[in-house]
Amino acid sequence: MEVIAQLQAALGAKAVLTDAADKAAFETDWRRIHSHAALCVVFPETTEQVAAAMRIAAAAGVQLVPQGGNTGLVAGAVPVAGHPQIILNLRRMNKIRALDATGDTITVEAGVTLQTVQEEAAKAGRLFPVSLAAEGTAQIGGVISTNAGGIQVLAYGSMRAQVLGLEVVLADGRVWDGLRVLRKDNTGFDLKQFFIGAEGTLGIITAAVLRLHPAVSAHATAMVGVPSIEAALDVFKAMQAKAGSSLTACEFITADAMALGLAHSPTSRLPFSAENYVLVEISAHSAGEAVEDMLLAGLEPLLENATASDAVVAQSERERADLWRIREALSDGELAAGGSVKHDISVPIGDIPAMVRATEALIEAKFPGFRLNIFGHIGDGNLHINVRPPAGKSLADISDYKAAITAAVEGLAMLHAGSFSAEHGIGQMRIVGMSAHKSAVELDLMRSIKQALDPHARLSPGKMLPGL
Ligand SMILES: Cc1cc2nc3c(=O)[nH]c(=O)nc-3n(C[C@H](O)[C@H](O)[C@H](O)COP(=O)(O)OP(=O)(O)OC[C@H]3O[C@@H](n4cnc5c(N)ncnc54)[C@H](O)[C@@H]3O)c2cc1C
Repeated sequence: MEVIAQLQAALGAKAVLTDAADKAAFETDWRRIHSHAALCVVFPETTEQVAAAMRIAAAAGVQLVPQGGNTGLVAGAVPVAGHPQIILNLRRMNKIRALDATGDTITVEAGVTLQTVQEEAAKAGRLFPVSLAAEGTAQIGGVISTNAGGIQVLAYGSMRAQVLGLEVVLADGRVWDGLRVLRKDNTGFDLKQFFIGAEGTLGIITAAVLRLHPAVSAHATAMVGVPSIEAALDVFKAMQAKAGSSLTACEFITADAMALGLAHSPTSRLPFSAENYVLVEISAHSAGEAVEDMLLAGLEPLLENATASDAVVAQSERERADLWRIREALSDGELAAGGSVKHDISVPIGDIPAMVRATEALIEAKFPGFRLNIFGHIGDGNLHINVRPPAGKSLADISDYKAAITAAVEGLAMLHAGSFSAEHGIGQMRIVGMSAHKSAVELDLMRSIKQALDPHARLSPGKMLPGL
């Protein structure tokens, strides 16, 4: 095929996979639900090679989907049916271009993993605060393109808050060099914002300048048992009142979610069991900040007045890592147990208990036997409300119910003035929600932006915007 020969000539034969067995892993999403053949998978090593691949695809009239670590949870990085397309995987663009300890910035290529950025920051005595369970595989280009959140948004903001500059290959093959390190720059539209969270529909991110933060000098971490979602919110409010901006994580986990996480993390132990759990972390950014005292002072009244039923405070870095390993095992544990109909909603933080109660009532009334698996970032008002099939049934057995379950759960979030996709994005899986929940004006504005930046719809067909 002419286009494959041209890509091989531009990128080198080894950078173009065409064999069906070799391509399969790149064509299938993380949840192993969506899989469609690509013409080929290409692995450019430089920005110029990305631009060349884009131009070759455009001239041949073949669409292209950018791919990072392929850990996205809405099948955004894999092809859709009915569109012959090329997967452009950024993993060979993996260089650290610069680290500026004075300006507190790091400039990295899109294929550098999130974990590598954290490690490079740590080596320089700094913190890169975006952290999520897939960080060893997720790449900076993907994390920016999904505007990923993770476990520390309440203190540091999501990915959008970390990006100072971008380099992007546009749909027509031109390169936009917006790799600025500036903290202040009010010179017209802030173009980088269009590409952050755009899920590859507007351009291919090839490099980014990211903001670094002061390193954390100490952590105080506790797993707190609570009898109810209402009590979990009370724990969050009490900890926030005590620690303010030093409260860097507050995660909610139901007993069912915890059981799946523990099953998947056999070395982890919890010294107590509870109806629900809250994983709380307070971080010190300066010597002498007594974070453990802060944590204990916050916990004491909660235990005394029975808001909390139990608590364990990590006594070492190893114990802290153990607690976080359980949290990180929740998604994998659920997948290993057969998967679920996943949701990623957010509501105003104070509405979290009402949202959970309404969901429980809804599932019991309309989908009896289905099992709720709820966990997430309570401090951001963001919960993953996942619905597992009844015992003994598989995800395939309940496929007829999926759309109705999702419409019901997302509908509840919208009733609470929430979002039907808080941090995972739209991809192919949430596209129905765009039609259902976005106003005509919002969709119109988004289509205008797509039309301006990718008028021939060369990038990521079938993603994000209905009808494109
Ligand atoms: C176990 C687990 C836990 C997770 N926890 C969280 C969490 O806490 N918070 C959270 O927000 N997400 C979470 N995620 C989702 C996922 O890890 C993030 O969305 C991550 O940002 C995706 O990065 P990636 O490199 O794998 O991107 P991919 O999955 O490869 O791609 C994601 C999207 O970005 C586009 N894209 C990728 N690279 C580029 C590029 N260079 N230029 C333009 N577009 C590009 C793709 O086309 C696709 O639309 C989790 C996933 C897993 C598997």
